[in-house]
Amino acid sequence: MTIDDNEVPYLYQAVENLIDTTNPKVARILDRALSGSEITIDEGEILFGTDSVGLLALMATADVLRRRVNGDTVTYVVNRNINFTNVCIKHCGFCAFSRDHREEEGYLLPLNEIIRRAQEAWDLGATEICVQAGLPPKMEGSLYIDLTREIKKAIPQMHIHGFSPEEVLYGSIRSKSTVIDYLQGLKEAGIGSLPGTSAEILVQEVRDKISPGRITVEQWQNVILTAHELGIPTTSTIMFGHVETHRERATHLDKIREIQKVHYGITEFVPLSFVHSEAPMWQQNLVEGIQPGATGLDVVKMHAVSRIMLNNFVDNIQCSWVKEGPKLAQMLLAAGCNDVGGTLINESISTSAGAQYGQLVPPSELRHWIRDMGRVPARRSTLYKLETVYEEEPLNLEPLDIAAADPMRFGSYDQLIKLEPFRYEGQRAPSLKGPTLPELVQMDSASKGSKLV
Ligand code: SF4
Repeated sequence: MTIDDNEVPYLYQAVENLIDTTNPKVARILDRALSGSEITIDEGEILFGTDSVGLLALMATADVLRRRVNGDTVTYVVNRNINFTNVCIKHCGFCAFSRDHREEEGYLLPLNEIIRRAQEAWDLGATEICVQAGLPPKMEGSLYIDLTREIKKAIPQMHIHGFSPEEVLYGSIRSKSTVIDYLQGLKEAGIGSLPGTSAEILVQEVRDKISPGRITVEQWQNVILTAHELGIPTTSTIMFGHVETHRERATHLDKIREIQKVHYGITEFVPLSFVHSEAPMWQQNLVEGIQPGATGLDVVKMHAVSRIMLNNFVDNIQCSWVKEGPKLAQMLLAAGCNDVGGTLINESISTSAGAQYGQLVPPSELRHWIRDMGRVPARRSTLYKLETVYEEEPLNLEPLDIAAADPMRFGSYDQLIKLEPFRYEGQRAPSLKGPTLPELVQMDSASKGSKLV
């Protein structure tokens, strides 16, 4: 047993007891993890296969490792998602958000509305906007760079966390430039960081089953490493609970770890459960052996093994309230997680896939989950700089806490896909001249009574 002497004695005893009761193979791996050794793919695969007794030891080990890195602090970010179009040329089997450009539910937000959403978020205390979208056909190659520049011009201090590796690759192809030149353009325009989405499982055979034609493992790795080389940090993710095996999950974690060893540009790792109910590959049974998302047991193991395999390499493991729901997300704080993600304000990708947990969570609610687990909530920047540590709950509600009482003021995905003025009609880029959502609501209620919300 190799737990540090300074660690809480009850924790030491509890973990020791749990590890001693699990099977010797698993016990050896967990002991190695506690001594700081790197856990191999073979060992990761064994950990994913643990039973319920092993599960408790797994959780406790992940919790000790989390405690060493992050202490009692659990972080969150105040942010807003802006998914500016759902029109996409790809047909990923898990995606219920995208619309083919001919479908009548395709939308594209005018630039005015994108900036209005970012400004409103800033006014309510957000420090980040997360900008991601579908890949519209015939798009201007410079679109992502232009959007970044326009938003930064309007709100210079806002951190733009935007454009997945798939989008960066698409932008570079559409503008006939290289990935490095495109990323350099994004950097000069003011991008703050890239989301490490579009990763799903970084095993090519799995990608070929669930999303043929999507960015390849090699291309994903190239975009991420190039971003890091240029000093643009990224996050990292996995989508699990569909057709992947335990070994493929462990292989994915090893890939993230190997990428991290090159430049240490990854800020966090976020396991994301597959949301099945509206996903085309589930509804149409397109992939043999498809599962209806991860079970609760699987979700806990995914987060715990992530902490254990990424130990010493990625400091922050985030649990997603969007995918797992608030109750399970809270419990994941006892399985290696130290971050609960963001307020989001306009979550639409998981909502369109059938997730039931809403489009936003106000900061006071995030802090409540954290404090309830006996941990200390802290608001962070996108890049994990602690902004406010809340030893005590503030006396007054924050602006977003108050605004969240009426989530419809922020618009919803259901509303967006029905709004005629935001309809996608083959545009190459968002128009500067389009109306904003409040203008539309005003026009609508002046003419025929509000049908927009
Ligand atoms: S996941 Fe992204 S690339 Fe794939 S269909 Fe959906 S929006 Fe398009």
